[in-house]
Amino acid sequence: MRRTINKSFAIEGIGLHKGERSLFVFNPQDKPLGIRFFVNDSVIEASISNLHSTIRGTNLSDGKNTVYTVEHLLSAINAFSIDDLDMEVYGIEPPAMDGSSLPLAKKLYESGVKIKNQNAKKIFSAIEKKEFTFKDSFYSFEPSDKFELVCVFENSHPMIGRQEFSFTVEPQLYLEQIAPARTFGFEAEISRLKENGLALGGTLDNAIVLTREGILNEGGLRYKDEFVRHKMLDFLGDLCLTGFNFEKIKITGIRTSHQANAAFASFICGRDK
Ligand SMILES: [Zn+2]
Repeated sequence: MRRTINKSFAIEGIGLHKGERSLFVFNPQDKPLGIRFFVNDSVIEASISNLHSTIRGTNLSDGKNTVYTVEHLLSAINAFSIDDLDMEVYGIEPPAMDGSSLPLAKKLYESGVKIKNQNAKKIFSAIEKKEFTFKDSFYSFEPSDKFELVCVFENSHPMIGRQEFSFTVEPQLYLEQIAPARTFGFEAEISRLKENGLALGGTLDNAIVLTREGILNEGGLRYKDEFVRHKMLDFLGDLCLTGFNFEKIKITGIRTSHQANAAFASFICGRDK
C-alpha cells in the first residue's frame, strides 16, 4: 500500500550552500504521484531523470527551475517509506537545520504516516548479488530478509580512519541512529567552497568542521562514527531517486559520494548514466 503523511507541516531556516532563508511546506498527497517539489511554476519529481548536478549535494531540476541540496529531506522521506508527498518550495534549497535530518524526521514522525488504499509503488528486491563500480566508489546489492544498508567511509583524518556502519531501514532506528548525524566539511576547503558560492550558510550550528587534528565544534561529536552515519543518511536520500521501495535487499556502498550514488541509482533503474 502506498503511504503519504497524515497532515501538513513546514520547516524554515537558512540553506547550507546558498545561505538564503527558505520555507518548505510538506503536504499529504492522496493520488499516486510520487515525491514532488513545487518550485515557482515547476513541479519537479524526485527522480534520477531530474538530476541536475551533484556538486556538494543532490540538486534536481526540470530545466527551468532547480531545487538544491535535497538529499537530507529525501533521506527522511525514504526512511519513513513515504511514496507520495508534495513540497511547496519557497527558496532554492531546504533549511540546513542542524546539519542533520533529525528535525525533519521528528516532524514526519509527529505528522504520522497515512496508508492509502492504493497498490505500493514498484518494489526492488535482490535475486542475486550484483556489483557496481564508479570511479573509486564500490556498490553491491544482494538478497536479504529485510532492507539493509551498509556504508563504509574512509579518510586519513585522525578522527575518521575507516568507519563502517550497518543499518536496517526502519523509522524508529533511523530516528535513533542515522537522522541525528550531521554533515561535515574540512576547514581547509571551506574558504574555497565559499569562493565558489557553496557552504555560504554553513556554521558550527549546522555542520561539523574538521581541522587537521580534530573538530571546531565545542560540543564534540554526537557519535564516534558520526561521519559514516551521515554518509548513510545521504546514501538513503540519493536512493530515493530510484523511485523504488526496497525490500529483501542488502545494499552496500563503499566510499560513497553524491555523484557515485546517483550513478548507482541509475544502474538500479537500468539506465547507463
Ligand atoms: Zn549530507
